[in-house]
Amino acid sequence: MQKITVAKGDGIGPEIMNATLEILKAANARVEFEEIAVGEKVYLSGNTSGIEKSSWDSIRTNKVFLKAPITTPQGGGYKSLNVTMRKTLGLYSNVRPCKSFHPFVSTKHPDMDVVIIRENEEDLYAGIEHQQTDEVVQCLKLITRPGCEKIIRYAFEYAKLYHRKRVSCFTKDNIMKHTDGLFHRVFKEIAAEYPDIESDNWIVDIGAARLADTPEMFDVVVMPNLYGDIVSDITAQISGSVGLAGTANIGEGCAMFEAIHGSAPDIAGQNIANPSGLLRAAVLMLNHIGQQDVAELINNAWSCTIEDGIHTKDIYKEGVSSKLVGTDGFTAAVIERLGQKPKTLDTASFSKDVQLNIKPYERRAKAKKVLKGVDVFVDWKGEKADELAARLQKLNNELRLTMITNRGVKVWPEGFEETFCTDHWRCRYEIENGHPASGASIPDILSNALKEELDVIKTENLYEFDGERGYSLGQGQ
Ligand code: NAD
Repeated sequence: MQKITVAKGDGIGPEIMNATLEILKAANARVEFEEIAVGEKVYLSGNTSGIEKSSWDSIRTNKVFLKAPITTPQGGGYKSLNVTMRKTLGLYSNVRPCKSFHPFVSTKHPDMDVVIIRENEEDLYAGIEHQQTDEVVQCLKLITRPGCEKIIRYAFEYAKLYHRKRVSCFTKDNIMKHTDGLFHRVFKEIAAEYPDIESDNWIVDIGAARLADTPEMFDVVVMPNLYGDIVSDITAQISGSVGLAGTANIGEGCAMFEAIHGSAPDIAGQNIANPSGLLRAAVLMLNHIGQQDVAELINNAWSCTIEDGIHTKDIYKEGVSSKLVGTDGFTAAVIERLGQKPKTLDTASFSKDVQLNIKPYERRAKAKKVLKGVDVFVDWKGEKADELAARLQKLNNELRLTMITNRGVKVWPEGFEETFCTDHWRCRYEIENGHPASGASIPDILSNALKEELDVIKTENLYEFDGERGYSLGQGQ
């Protein structure tokens, strides 16, 4: 018996979790459930994280968590519990298989069978945001080498284990050369370690467009967090319905399984919710804990139910479906079919070998890091960049003012008057003689700025790593 932690969540959560647990029990899954409370009630009781300490203890002890959707109360600064869970428990990999169930569930893509692997901890989801001036706010996009290596290795190992032919990478490294550029570079490095698996890279916009149009072109697709969040919902939707997909959040120690949809408060308590997303997440969970026999039994019974046209309202279609059922009717139909095999849809056959062989991250030798200058960000309400430059040049020491940009576009020297400017100016100081800049030159510039009554809001040091520029140029520079 394996103990797993379960949370019934909010909205339709309790209905679909009860349905899922009923099916797991009927299929003789060798699991015991330990229930914890997370979500709206916990938030509203004054706990802004949405989860009690004792619940963390349960998840960390049992290491496997089946979670129903929760409602994050609007306003009040409540942090998303899902994001907190993924990051706190190190669930770096979000795996979402998206397959169509043609001809039983309507889809324009009868042959699609794609697995989206989304990086789950980094990128803009670091949640580091600041307002810096009256007009400008920023969100920090953090991409790390260990983060890229872990998720990309995971994608290739997944492809190897499940006999997938190709891994595609989606990034926007034509624009974000350093952040997405790192993801792409690591993808190329790791792809070279798997010569038997095809690999290709797509700029995310055209990649997503092709995926939405011709999903049969893709097999396993790996991408950073934000693109993965968006693309995986689109992929699930075009496979038939977001209501059908389950997702696995996998870390080195713990794993969390959930439906991809939310708590659907609009239909809560009406016995019409489709429990399939959570049930299919439970199938992923059974695979993860080595109960492939039970996973197959449930998956086949579910496929038979879908094939027999016994459908909940969200996927019911005149002419295709034979019977409209509620959550409880659907649950009973799945239980009735335990032991049967589908006739048209694939019969489930899950490998016992589910251990992915992810090499631990090894930090590389330290690079030669050389300070070349500093970007000083200034809140300034003036309009003419020349005026600002004149004041900034008074701060020069061994570093010289070389450029001012506004929203990344060069406005000095030789800016265009057509360029729209806000009150947020990035002022670049660089070493002139090519030698490394001394550490003292930056505080020196800042103390001069204070004397000049310039409102400095932040600085970013400019480094070279092993002779390579570690910062972007200004647009138009
Ligand atoms: P939603 O996924 O809850 O609902 C979108 C639409 O799909 C609704 O019309 C809903 O009725 C329908 N739907 C969703 N699941 C269904 C199911 N199983 N069966 C039938 N119909 C279903 O998205 P939303 O309305 O944007 O969000 C509602 C709440 O869910 C919000 O508080 C949001 O923060 C939360 N949410 C939670 C999670 C999670 O816990 N993992 C994920 C997404 C959203």
